[in-house]
Amino acid sequence: MAKIKRIGVLSSGGDAPGMNAAIRAVTRTAIYNGIEVIGIRHGYQGMINGYFKLLKTFNVSDIIQRGGTILKTARCEEFKTPEGRKKAYNNLKDRRLDGVVVIGGDGSFTGARIFNEEYDIPFIGIPGTIDNDIYGTDYTIGYDTALNTVIEAVDKIRDTASAHNRLFFIEVMGAEAGFIAIRSGLACGAEAIIIPEIKNQVKKLRSFLEEGFKRKKSSNIIIVAEGADEGGAFGVAKKAKKDFQDYSVRVTVLGHIQRGGSPSVYDRVTASRLGYAAVEALMDDQKSAMVGLQNNEVVLVPFRKAVKLHKEVNWELLEIANILSV
Ligand code: ADP
Repeated sequence: MAKIKRIGVLSSGGDAPGMNAAIRAVTRTAIYNGIEVIGIRHGYQGMINGYFKLLKTFNVSDIIQRGGTILKTARCEEFKTPEGRKKAYNNLKDRRLDGVVVIGGDGSFTGARIFNEEYDIPFIGIPGTIDNDIYGTDYTIGYDTALNTVIEAVDKIRDTASAHNRLFFIEVMGAEAGFIAIRSGLACGAEAIIIPEIKNQVKKLRSFLEEGFKRKKSSNIIIVAEGADEGGAFGVAKKAKKDFQDYSVRVTVLGHIQRGGSPSVYDRVTASRLGYAAVEALMDDQKSAMVGLQNNEVVLVPFRKAVKLHKEVNWELLEIANILSV
């Protein structure tokens, strides 16, 4: 195969802190190897509409520390249609792109996999989502920063919770899975963690908390993933209220602050490693695969597996959190 001369890079789907660090790494690795880089703005929509911009080294200066994404991101229904993907392909061909790096989540990789079944321009993915819910990689870019944001907020809430004997239900992101809830819950010493994977947890809350009541614990923090079956933190708090009449119950929904902010060291380093690896993968004629981290080693995982297989939460961490919370 001929040497690649020009590649595209885009961010797609939900944004995550560290996407900029990945864009920087892709751009600079490519330029280092004599490859031109085209930034595609607004995700797949930009691919269809031709929002292309040549990226030079200086275009990615001063962004490693910024949240969000300088290329913007988007959700694009048109890319789900054969006509939309045809338009995208024609634009990539017109611009003579030899490969594309897609920074995004599950949905973005599903689109990339379908595109690579239909067309010969190779796509490589970099997992970027705060949810950490992608099979084949231990970490996704943005997850660590989101966790740090959560524990900073929870630590502050605990100060006020202890001052007033309050029972706090704090909702974190995780519509489908408890990745953020479990890890942040362990890290902030939550008294209980409620996740979508386990049903009817409210019933068990009493026994979770009883020990603490006996010891007159002055504050109780319950971390609730937004997808908890009782209906997020408000739903859980409503059900739990009658059981805990000695305490005044409060609810905090952390919401979108979890998506923003300057990326952590871990996310910047991961984004740099994976951005570098994505360009190397394209230079090695790879396609339809995601670069990821397994046991701190960079690996290449076919999109087919990354999007089809289910990633389990770390049950051991949940057990440890429960044991340590009494
Ligand atoms: P994320 O990548 O964060 O999971 P989404 O699920 O919103 O975010 O997906 C991002 C974009 O990927 C969608 O807006 C769409 O353009 C593309 N995409 C998702 N699913 C498909 C699909 N089945 N076919 C083609 N493109 C898809």
